[in-house]
Order: sequence, then C-alpha cells, then structure tokens
Amino acid sequence: MPDKITIAVSKGRIYDDAIPLLAKLDIIPVDDPNKTRKLVLETNQPNVQLLVIRATDVPTYVERGAAELGIAGKDVLMEYSGDDLYEPIDLGIAKCRMMLAGLKNAKPIINRPRVVTKYTNITKNYFAERGQQVEIIKLYGSMELGPVLGLSDWIVDLVDTGNTLKANGLVTLEHIADISSRLVVNKAAMKMKNATIKPILDKLSEIVSES
Ligand code: AMP
Repeated sequence: MPDKITIAVSKGRIYDDAIPLLAKLDIIPVDDPNKTRKLVLETNQPNVQLLVIRATDVPTYVERGAAELGIAGKDVLMEYSGDDLYEPIDLGIAKCRMMLAGLKNAKPIINRPRVVTKYTNITKNYFAERGQQVEIIKLYGSMELGPVLGLSDWIVDLVDTGNTLKANGLVTLEHIADISSRLVVNKAAMKMKNATIKPILDKLSEIVSES
C-alpha cells in the first residue's frame, strides 16, 4: 500500500509550470484549480493529492508536515525563516531574477536609500552583506509604484521579461539572485514515507536533468 502523499503548490505561474512535470510522474489532478473552489485536488493516483495554496504558505505546510512535498519559488524559500526543510531538487521552472531596480532618470540619493519590497529578509541580508544602510518599507504588491510616487528610491522584486519595470519607467540596477522553483520535502516524511517519496525524487531528478 503506497503512503498517502500531499503535494503543496501555489496557483498561477508555478502551478502552470509544475503540472507538466507532475504529468511526467503520472500525477494528474482530477480538477482544474481555475475552475473549482476546492483547495485539495484529488489526482489520478489514489494516494496523491495536491494542495493549492498561497506561495508563501508552501514552506509552512511542508515544514510542519501538513504536506509531505511542496513546490516553492527560491524567492519564497530565501525569505522564509524556517530551516527545517529538505530542498533536494531545483525543478528549473518559473525562472526569473530577483533584482534591485530604480527610476530610469533618478535624482541622486542624498539620505539613506529607501527600498520597498515584500522580500524584507532578503533585502535586509543583501544590504547587510554589502555594509550599506537602507530603510526597508514593506509592501504586499505593486512595488513598482514606490519610486514612481516618491515612497522609495528603489525596489527589490522579481523580474522576468522586464516589461513591468519598463512600463513604469524603472530600470534594473543590481542582480540579487537567480530564482527558480524547488521541490521541498518534510524531513520526517522523508524517513517515514521513504518507500513512496524516494522513487518520486529519483524520477523527478531524472526528468529535470533531461530537460
Ligand atoms: P515581468 O514584467 O515579466 O518582468 O514580470 C514581473 C512581474 O511578475 C512582477 O510583478 C513579479 O513579481 C512577477 N513575477 C515574475 N516572475 C515571477 C515568478 N517566477 N514567480 C512569481 N512572480 C513573478
């Protein structure tokens, strides 16, 4: 009897990229999360279900064992303060870059630079490593508005095509990190449900190395 496995994944970009990968493992959700209000999706595998939750909640569910496996962006994992997760596989999906950006025609900054971001831990660590003092202002979305409306000098955010920055008169200033989605595994489940989880990890590694 295979162990019951719950995989936590966030809706949107990561889900869209993860579904073809899961299909290669012959894990296919029965419902489409865009067409159902269900948060727990059954799959064609009776012992596997998907949990569709907010990206920032994926590490919490997996670390605390509510899900055995999860798929989370490196941005979310870097920002997350827990350290009790295995992160065995870079899935190479939902790739983008974490960047520092500012106004294209910015005036010189006289005082301590102000940075808006939802990634306050990553931003704090980045500037601490450089020994630069900044004021970090937390926002939950539309970070691009910060410099445009004079709330901040810079932003720290994810950049993919660069279209969002460009449309708001911003340019990239510094590259902070390359981002992609990772598989995360609950440590206890890795031991207790190894017979079911190990073959999934092996197959995923094989699929990822081939692509
Ligand atoms: P773009 O205009 O293509 O550079 O995309 C930038 C916008 O999409 C920003 O609001 C980012 O926060 C978001 N974004 C880009 N890539 C990702 C990703 N891999 N995961 C989550 N959000 C992303």
